[in-house]
Amino acid sequence: MIPFNKPYLHGRELVYIAQAVASGKISGDGSFTRKCHDFFEKRYGFAKALMTTSCTDALEMSALLLNIAEGDEVIVPAFTFVSSANAFVLRGAKLVFADSEESNPNIDACKLADLITPRTRAIVVVHYAGVACDMDPILQLARQHGIAVIEDAAQGIDSFYKGKPLGSLGEMGAFSFHETKNVIAGEGGLLTINDPQYIARAEIIREKGTNRSSFFRGEVDKYGWVDVGSSFLPSDIVSAYLFAQLENIDTIQARRKAIWQRYNTRLSSELAKYGIGLPVIPDFATNNAHMFYIVCRNLDQRTKLIDGLKAEKIHAVFHYLSLHHSPYFIGRHDGRSLPNSDRFTDCLLRLPLYYELTDDQCDQVCDAILENLAAQ
Ligand SMILES: *Cc1c(COP(=O)(O)O)cnc(C)c1O
Repeated sequence: MIPFNKPYLHGRELVYIAQAVASGKISGDGSFTRKCHDFFEKRYGFAKALMTTSCTDALEMSALLLNIAEGDEVIVPAFTFVSSANAFVLRGAKLVFADSEESNPNIDACKLADLITPRTRAIVVVHYAGVACDMDPILQLARQHGIAVIEDAAQGIDSFYKGKPLGSLGEMGAFSFHETKNVIAGEGGLLTINDPQYIARAEIIREKGTNRSSFFRGEVDKYGWVDVGSSFLPSDIVSAYLFAQLENIDTIQARRKAIWQRYNTRLSSELAKYGIGLPVIPDFATNNAHMFYIVCRNLDQRTKLIDGLKAEKIHAVFHYLSLHHSPYFIGRHDGRSLPNSDRFTDCLLRLPLYYELTDDQCDQVCDAILENLAAQ
């Protein structure tokens, strides 16, 4: 059996968890959480990095920080995870869904200008598969209209746009350490803040609306309720697990890239003749090997391929179902068609890719794909 994903221990995860327990403090903002914050701020230069319980929570914090409210409009790609949209719906925003590019699932920067109205407050970009969206035109458009840009960089750790780390380009960025991402903590996330005006309030919102963070730094002599907020900070056990992974991020990334390249080398020449597309990495973007996907000719071809792989005990999976067609949103959508998003909904297939996947297993997946297609 080759699963789609497999969580793994890289080295010192269990040692660090035991250390956290022995230190007598496993609630939020303990020593491992601080180590994670330092790692992110030093390695990637984020003005502020705050661990959260999930990327979903980091996105919800961003909506609170921007004071998104009823009547505001937020532009979100339709081909994304629920949380990129739901975080803003929770604040009463009206969603305006944007289409993907034709060549890849990222938001089509050229089509955004038409979606902006005087009510638009934010654009959410999702760096699909860890490959950067074309940020310069998006940021330029947003600055011109006084709109914030939030990066859903859930899949984007250690990936770059024109040399700048993902999560450092918009006002804020949100990362995930869910067990399906490159570096994991089971469930976990990170909010990055690039515009310093949001830092002080982010600490308060993350700590249930209290100024507890300032209190622990000795800046105030008691702490209390000063704003709205919730409990967005993870246990130090989560950070202990994550820190063991972060220490080894270069080996983790090197192995994932090797697997990605192996898929690409084996499949790129063969799949074209079946009308199947491969990932596109634009010149401005790096590849962090978060995902290896193929884009089938149609739904029927993909369904047969998934079933054929399943018969060989290989678990390959499709991805998002366009949110404008979702049961929650279908009655709320303005009726615009988003053809590229629909095509990726029907045709995109993700292949197994995880740190412990062996070269042999990778070859087995490629063989099974090519045999199935030849027989279809
Ligand atoms: C995984 C993912 C999320 C959600 O991350 P959680 O940490 O599970 O909340 C959000 N957006 C995208 C694009 C994702 O891939």
